[in-house]
This record gives sequence, structure tokens and C-alpha cells, in this order.
Amino acid sequence: TEGTLADIVSHAKEYGFVFPSSEIYDGLAAVYDYGPNGVELKNNLKQLWWKAMTQLNQNVVGIDAAIFMHPLTWKASGHVDGFSDPMIDNLDSKKRYRADVLLEDKAAEYEKNGEIARAETLLAEMGRLLTAEDLAGVKQLIIDEQILCPVSKTGNWTDVRQFNLMFSTQVGAVADDSSKIYLRPETAQGIFVNFLNVQKSARQKVPFGIAQIGKAFRNEIVARQFIFRMREFEQMEMQFFVRPGTEGEWYNVWKETRRRWHEALGLPADKLRFHDHDKLAHYAKAAVDIEFEFPFGFKEIEGIHSRSDFDLTQHQTLSRKKQNYFDNDVNPETGKPYGNYVPYVVETSVGADRLFLATLCQAFQEETIVEGEGEEQKTKTRKLLRLHPAVAPVKAAIFPLVKKDGLPEKANEIYNSLRHDFRLVVEEKDSIGTRYTRQDLIGTPFCIAVDHQTLEDNTVTVRHRDSREQTRMAIADLRSYIGEAVSF
Ligand code: ATP
Repeated sequence: TEGTLADIVSHAKEYGFVFPSSEIYDGLAAVYDYGPNGVELKNNLKQLWWKAMTQLNQNVVGIDAAIFMHPLTWKASGHVDGFSDPMIDNLDSKKRYRADVLLEDKAAEYEKNGEIARAETLLAEMGRLLTAEDLAGVKQLIIDEQILCPVSKTGNWTDVRQFNLMFSTQVGAVADDSSKIYLRPETAQGIFVNFLNVQKSARQKVPFGIAQIGKAFRNEIVARQFIFRMREFEQMEMQFFVRPGTEGEWYNVWKETRRRWHEALGLPADKLRFHDHDKLAHYAKAAVDIEFEFPFGFKEIEGIHSRSDFDLTQHQTLSRKKQNYFDNDVNPETGKPYGNYVPYVVETSVGADRLFLATLCQAFQEETIVEGEGEEQKTKTRKLLRLHPAVAPVKAAIFPLVKKDGLPEKANEIYNSLRHDFRLVVEEKDSIGTRYTRQDLIGTPFCIAVDHQTLEDNTVTVRHRDSREQTRMAIADLRSYIGEAVSF
């Protein structure tokens, strides 16, 4: 069986994947730290994304831009004026909520009760009011739907206000308005402002892409669902620059490519779906989310956006620097080069933390297994993480059967011969069964048992996490065997 969110949260903490930030001070809402196994899993996900983008596509290159950017960046991008969520406070509980989330929760409640049409009507009405920026209308809808404060069960609401999600701070010694800068709320703008630097230095021709992984910060009003919605998180974004008029094709290409990638990494097709946006962000011409079915429902893990030339044109206006590209390719219709234009952009944007959570939710399983034979036979339950070997924090654990007779030395010899290729651990303590259990809990795909026979013929027993089957094989074959399983 699969786990609930509570199972995942406690498993993540107990086995060193994710800890609440500053926990000894009772934590900091919507901020989390990754533990020893978490950082390995997250790094593996990031590396595989990086490889899928930059190594597998000659026309996609990477950058690593700063978190701080010139304040005009965020004026140009529309974030200063438009990056906000509608918030509402409850006067009794003094708690703050997102008006749209209260309504979405209500719609989800209708849907759960089988009142699909009612849910859809509510969502459509909410979308209409938000697009029209009718905040009084949104409040009225909350009242009409008799939505009560989840904490104090009253409907005693303030007006709905727009709340900007950007964090700001000061640079330099003088604290006035001119020193105010923002922590980036998305990594994309670091790519846009470097468009020409990258295009020229990497000698790229349109169509080409720029990929980046980095931290982003949003002062989210509702902090819930563990690492699904954080105030400090990590994005993996790629901006793909195309000739105007071809953005539709590229939008479809990246939509399919990205979905396939998630499936290949182990998120099953029936738990993934596309969700087209009806309400488009200020920059978007078309937008689709790739949603994954978390224990709390289908939710976005990645967004694919057709952003037109919105961002580059905005930066061109505010910086007064041309963001033109000269396209030498011949237009078959005119027989002349396409010439100068500001490229259009198709963006893929996935949250590393949300992908991590989806991966963990999908991998976590509790199952009943039968052990032993005949009268000795007994059933027990085991918890395990069925992680794709490519993302597992530890690729193989090496167990000397006993702590004597030279077996620990032999285990360490195997460890030393493979540690440059894979992240491995050697464990000597406890019974072999207990050691298997520990590795199952963190998703280690292989356990290698070193016994007396190993000393004679240089073979070991490899135990497989998912099937618990065991195979005898030569030490000399381990590198290629594990290597094949963990490659992606
Ligand atoms: P949502 O509607 O859930 O707030 P969004 O549509 O604002 O997300 P985008 O701006 O499209 O998100 O960001 C792209 C990706 O960044 C999202 O698909 C998600 O994986 C990730 N992301 C966005 N906000 C957060 C957050 N607060 N915590 C963790 N990941 C996030």
C-alpha cells in the first residue's frame, strides 16, 4: 500500500531525507532542510534533469545566475506590479488565507461528494472574478459559499487584498528605497537578461535553450503540504528561444518530452496528467501544468509556458538594450533571410522539491511479505522505498556476514574498488536481516553479502531490494552490473 502524507513526512525525517528548518527552535514555517539521504536524492534528480537538458541536447546550454538581480529586472518582468495572491484574513482567528485556495478547497469538497458540476461552476466563477481583478466579488463568493475559517469556524472575513510574494532586502550601507532589492521569485529572469551573452559566447543559433537550476523565494501565504509549497525552494528551468510563429510546435515538443522524462524516472502514467490553464499569467500565451497525483490529490509539479517575446521585449524597454537576434536562415516564402527579431520563448519549469516529494510519495510502499519455510514461515510487513536506482541515495550496501575471519577486510576491499563509481556503504553491525531492512527504508537497490565462500572464489550474494531475490556473482562483475542498473 501507498503512504499518506503523514507517513511520508515522518519517514523523511526519521531516515534523514527532510528535516524542518531550525527545528530546535520549533521550526520555521514552509522552510525545510535536506538530510544526508535527502541531499543525495535531490542531487541525483537535479543531475538527471541537467543531463536531460544540456548533455542530451547540443542546442541547450546552462548558466548559474546570481540570486540578487538589478531591481528593474522585476519591474520589467511584471513581478513588482503583478506577482501577488489574493489574501483574506479571518478576524477571529487572525489567520491569513489565500482566497483562491479557500474556494478551491470548497470545490474539491463538492467534487469529493460527487457534485462535479457544482465544483466546476465554482472554479469557473472564481477564475472569472480573479481575471477581472474583482476582489470584492471574490469576497462575496466566499460569503455566498458559506466558507468558514478552517481554524475558528467563523465566516468573519476581512476584504480580499493582493499580497506581493517577493521577499525584499537592502544592499549596501544606505537604507533608502534605491537600495531595495528582491530575492528572485523565479530563476527565469537570470536567463532572460543573459540571453545575448549566452547566445554569442556559446555561438548558438535559434532555436536554442538555456537551462538553470537554483533557489527561488516566495512569501507564500499558505504554507502546507510539507515541501510542496515552500518559501525557499529550488527550480529547474529552461527557456527555449524560437523563431516567432514556431512557438506552438515547440510548446508541444517540450510538453511531451517533459512528460516522458517524468515517466522514465518512475512516476507512472496514470498518476500524471496535463492540466491546461484557463487563467493565464501576465506573460503567458499558453500554459499547461504537468500534475502528479500526490496523496492529497493531483497537483502541479512542472509548468510549460509559451511566453511569447514578453520578457525580452520588456527587458529591451527598461534596459534600453536591443534584445534582437539576426536569423540567417532563408525564409522559403520570401527567399530572403528571416532577419532581425526578438525571439519567442517556450519555458519548462519544474520544482526540484516538488519532484523530490512526488518521487518519495511514489516510492514509499508498505507491503506484506512471507519469510522462511514450512513451520518457520511467518508473514510480516516491510516498508521500503522503490526508488529508481538512478536516484537512490546509496547504490549498494556491502555486508560482511560476520565481523571476523577476514570478512570485514574483504568487504572494505570491495568498497574501495567501487567507491569512485558509486555511493556505497559498508555495514557490519546487526543481523543481516536488520541490515537489509535498513537499506530497504532508504531505497538502496542492492545489498552485497560477503561470506566465507567469497574468500575462496571471489563471489558475493547480491540481494535485490524489490524482489528480495538473491544472485551469486563474481566481484569482478559488480561494476558493470550496478552500473547498468543505475544508468539513466
Ligand atoms: P502554484 O500554482 O502551485 O503556486 P506556480 O504555478 O506559481 O505554482 P510556477 O511559477 O509555474 O508555479 O513555478 C514553476 C514550478 O516551481 C512549479 O511547477 C513548482 O514545481 C515550483 N514551485 C513554485 N512555487 C513553489 C513553492 N512555493 N514551493 C516549492 N516549489 C514551488
